[in-house]
Amino acid sequence: MSTKPKIGFYWCASCGGCEESVVDLAEDVLMVVGAVDIVFWPCAMDFKKADVEAMPDKSIVATLLNGAIRSSEQEEMAHLLRRKSQVLIAYGSCAHTGGVPGLANQFTREQIMKYVYEDAPTMVNDKKTRPQTHFKEDGRETELPQLRNVVRALDQVVDVDYYIPGCPPTPKLLKDAVLALLSGKLPPKGSVLAPNIAVCQQCKRNDSKPQDISLTEFKRPHQIIADPEKCLLAQGLPCLGPATRGGCDAVCIQGNMPCTGCFGPVDNVHDHGAKILSYLASTAAGKEQKDITKTLAGIPDPVGTFYRYGLAKCVLRGKVS
Ligand code: SF4
Ligand code: SF4
Repeated sequence: MSTKPKIGFYWCASCGGCEESVVDLAEDVLMVVGAVDIVFWPCAMDFKKADVEAMPDKSIVATLLNGAIRSSEQEEMAHLLRRKSQVLIAYGSCAHTGGVPGLANQFTREQIMKYVYEDAPTMVNDKKTRPQTHFKEDGRETELPQLRNVVRALDQVVDVDYYIPGCPPTPKLLKDAVLALLSGKLPPKGSVLAPNIAVCQQCKRNDSKPQDISLTEFKRPHQIIADPEKCLLAQGLPCLGPATRGGCDAVCIQGNMPCTGCFGPVDNVHDHGAKILSYLASTAAGKEQKDITKTLAGIPDPVGTFYRYGLAKCVLRGKVS
């Protein structure tokens, strides 16, 4: 029987990008596979839920769970993996702060169901049939997951030990986390396993960022060809680097695209979106209402800009039915 540390991977409300990021380890994936025993990874290996249920509690050294929690099945799996794992890591923005799926919290569950199963232009559903959680036919019965009222981050459902941020996390962060696990050199519980610095501090364009930025309008990336050497925020693009945790090596900025905030806030910032809003507001030059309105016109989707990854964890949480 293998004595290597047992590791699990699981996905909940996820796009699959976080699973892909494990493959992005490239040759380092061989180091990981050689050093640990992967005992659960439904995306890549044929383990079943029953296999996990049969394991003794706390027998998995660490589970890296990606994706937000939206359904009863995801909630059940989060509780099961919490029970079976010594260390539970929220992997990626969706598990860390609710991620892009958390934007659904702008709408009630009923609004979402009605649009998807009745009102969407591509929907043909004369009987207005909705998904059932219990189905019976020819003597066979099956239970299906129920959609919960809101999208939640992992730590809004179970106790979480560590967070690896990013949409998806970089291979380096994953490798560093696995090495820290193997060596037993983990930081205090609750830590985000990425540097506690802003993206600007890792950005090669930081020297071109003026001390005081004074913008009369925000622009969207498709509206300008940005100078690849200069600070994007100073060029009018709402770059969230000043209010977002680094550790990504500013890869989006290297690709001439502004930071969208996927690493979440630095330590001690409670509401990432509020921090972003506060910073961007401080860069607006206008003081009169008409000038402020003109500046804000460049941000047509404020919630999707300020809370793209963090609506589930914001103070307001979302719409209440
Ligand atoms: S964090 Fe990003 S890459 Fe990972 S599951 Fe969520 S949306 Fe996909
Ligand atoms: S605002 Fe954006 S482009 Fe400017 S220095 Fe910060 S991360 Fe770089």
